[in-house]
Amino acid sequence: NRQIILASRPDGAASADNFKLQEAPLPPLAEGEVRVRHHYLSLDPYMRGRMNDSKSYTAPQALGEPMGGGTVGEVVESRFEGLAPGDRVLGHGGWQEWSQLPGKAWTKLPTDDAVPLSYYLGAVGMPGVTAWVGLNEIIQPKAGDTVLVSAASGAVGSAFAALAKARGCHTVGIAGGPEKCAYAEQELGFDVCVDYRPHADAQSLSKALKAVCPNGVEGYFENVGGMIMNAVLPRMNAFGRIALCGLIAGYDGAPTAIDNPSLFLIQRLKMQGFIVSEFPKSWAPALKELGDLVKAGKLRPRETVAQGLEHAPEAFFGMLKGKNFGKQLVKLI
Ligand code: NDP
Repeated sequence: NRQIILASRPDGAASADNFKLQEAPLPPLAEGEVRVRHHYLSLDPYMRGRMNDSKSYTAPQALGEPMGGGTVGEVVESRFEGLAPGDRVLGHGGWQEWSQLPGKAWTKLPTDDAVPLSYYLGAVGMPGVTAWVGLNEIIQPKAGDTVLVSAASGAVGSAFAALAKARGCHTVGIAGGPEKCAYAEQELGFDVCVDYRPHADAQSLSKALKAVCPNGVEGYFENVGGMIMNAVLPRMNAFGRIALCGLIAGYDGAPTAIDNPSLFLIQRLKMQGFIVSEFPKSWAPALKELGDLVKAGKLRPRETVAQGLEHAPEAFFGMLKGKNFGKQLVKLI
């Protein structure tokens, strides 16, 4: 079983030296466990935070252990009543080709191909539900509201667009580069997407946002922070809601800061951070809606797929720099 372990913690920016590829034999299967061959590994921004030994909402990744991570795969052997060889499952198998976990740790997936297997790690998985929770539980938009999302073409952002359009919102994205913006408008359903890269500072980006949100912004879904957040805040309307989902601009470097906190007072804004796992009641309705959108052809986001476990670290660092185009995955088989 090939696996990638966390060999050391980053001192500043993370690097390939922090990971180590190793091979370990699979032990015999214990009663209640299943042996799963992973087909896809999900790479997610939160993994960068877990590489540090600092206080966060999840425990740090243990050194010397395979990196944690969401996986989908197929049961090859089972000593658990509820799962049989051939079943397709979703769970936290980690950065390795195989795993052996208690059967109850896995979710059995539908057998039909109406939803591609990899989508259970993206659009119809944790990132999709994250978009649903931030939109419905925090932003709570009305039809006709303008809602804005950063990292618009990514795993969370792409699901956000389909959900916001279904609620009749004027849906605006911010993404890095003309290709990502064209994709956001032509394939994801954004009414418009603004490329932040040509803008040297928040004032310049804010001006570009004003042109595409002439009536201001009711709801902002924040994935990035830093310059992008500072550009959006002056565009917020009175009583606007901000769902603080992620601050990826600061994950591998300096934390991001808010330039002008008085905007919160002047515009009576409400900002709420949230963690998707703390909204258990939202998962079933969110997954149902996201699955229906995929089946109806209204949510067909692209994915960036690295081939082979050995390419996971490079793909992970690429994602932290915006090299991914949609959900970043590693194909393991
Ligand atoms: P994405 O698929 O969106 O990939 C990350 C994207 O972030 C990159 O493609 C890049 O897009 C953008 N990005 C990276 N670095 C920067 C930077 N310095 N400045 C601006 N943009 C940057 O990832 P996800 O959709 O999986 O995650 C999006 C956000 O949601 C993350 O912040 C993540 O931590 C958060 N999240 C939070 C959850 C929660 O429960 N709160 C759950 C899941 C995700 P571009 O090229 O457009 O800049």
